[in-house]
Amino acid sequence: MKNNSEKNQRKRNDIILAAVILIIAVAGFLFLNATKKNGSYVVVKIDGVEKYSYSITENITKEIITGENGEYTNTLVIKDGKASVLTANCPDGICVGHREISFVGETIVCLPHKVVIEVKKEASNQNLDAVV
Ligand SMILES: [Zn+2]
Repeated sequence: MKNNSEKNQRKRNDIILAAVILIIAVAGFLFLNATKKNGSYVVVKIDGVEKYSYSITENITKEIITGENGEYTNTLVIKDGKASVLTANCPDGICVGHREISFVGETIVCLPHKVVIEVKKEASNQNLDAVV
């Protein structure tokens, strides 16, 4: 019954392959979750320059005013450790539609206003990870 044993062998290989794929998938999932860290600060960059920094633990509502004549506004809300844009007068409204951010490295970008809201681990002046 050579045929049968070959079939079994192939079946075993399939199971091993499936198990390996599963292990890789689980490991990748765990790795991603482990690297997702809650941030401590919410930094606001305007045209690439850091302008404001808030603790993510404070509950604030802040108007970010940009544009040459202060004609652009984005309303930043930090609440319950999450940051979001409540309102904005940009044409696309993508920043307003963005979900809340709370993990290190997450950003909300308002392209028309050149505003970037980013969650960071530490305030920028203590940021030792910064690449020069
Ligand atoms: Zn916007």
